[in-house]
Amino acid sequence: LLRLEDVEKSYGKEEVLHGVGFEMDTRDVDVIVGPSGSGKSTLLRCINRLTEIDGGSIFLDGEDVHAMDENDLRRRVGMVFQDFNLFAHRTAVGNVTLGLTEVLDLPSGEAHDRAMEFLDRVGLAEQADSYPAELSGGQKQRVGIARSLAMDPELILFDEPTSALDPELIGEVLGVMNDLADEGMTMLCVTHEMGFARSAATTLTFLDDGRIVERGPPEQLFDDPEHDRTREFLGDLT
Ligand code: ATP
Ligand code: MG
Repeated sequence: LLRLEDVEKSYGKEEVLHGVGFEMDTRDVDVIVGPSGSGKSTLLRCINRLTEIDGGSIFLDGEDVHAMDENDLRRRVGMVFQDFNLFAHRTAVGNVTLGLTEVLDLPSGEAHDRAMEFLDRVGLAEQADSYPAELSGGQKQRVGIARSLAMDPELILFDEPTSALDPELIGEVLGVMNDLADEGMTMLCVTHEMGFARSAATTLTFLDDGRIVERGPPEQLFDDPEHDRTREFLGDLT
């Protein structure tokens, strides 16, 4: 479904990604871990072209993402952000309908029904008319997930979706992510939640300094890593 080949990215003189390549199949749950500044967010942002790469290629279903219309790409590849990225002046349901009316061109009644369906799916039907300021962090993030899901994406990118949450709210977001994984959603997740990585990931990738150090089944990286660096990093997290 997704293939990266030798992807390079610099910000000015600073090289952030030094030739990253991997492949994901439909229904895979890929988890990426790595130290702060290793390029995890940059990698996700390259995939849906929130930032442009300087070398290499990225293919979605065999199609070069650089040849694709950006709106089309972002409909097919959803993203869930650490800080939710909700519109403060729109209600929960208003945040979910926005892409449906603006990008998918659905009539407003249909968009509303569809938004309600997905809010219900993340357990937030009751909060549909609340504004972000009236929601907890966990609820805001579930709106963010509903907003992505409603677009019927082929793949969803998660960038540390629980890092901004109080510990007691992390579970409700991980619960939704686990359900999605069980339902066969294709997910590429940057997260430090090692329980989720162990239980839900099909593949775990350790990124350090813009390079993939190790990539494989989570059990292998946790229990029998090839590189000391992987062992040290995962050992510190778990
Ligand atoms: P964290 O775990 O802290 O979120 P990360 O692995 O997501 O880190 P990135 O945000 O991808 O790391 O950043 C990688 C490097 O690129 C860092 O050195 C950062 O300062 C730099 N960087 C990121 N975004 C930009 C930008 N828009 N302009 C310039 N430099 C940037
Ligand atoms: Mg980041």
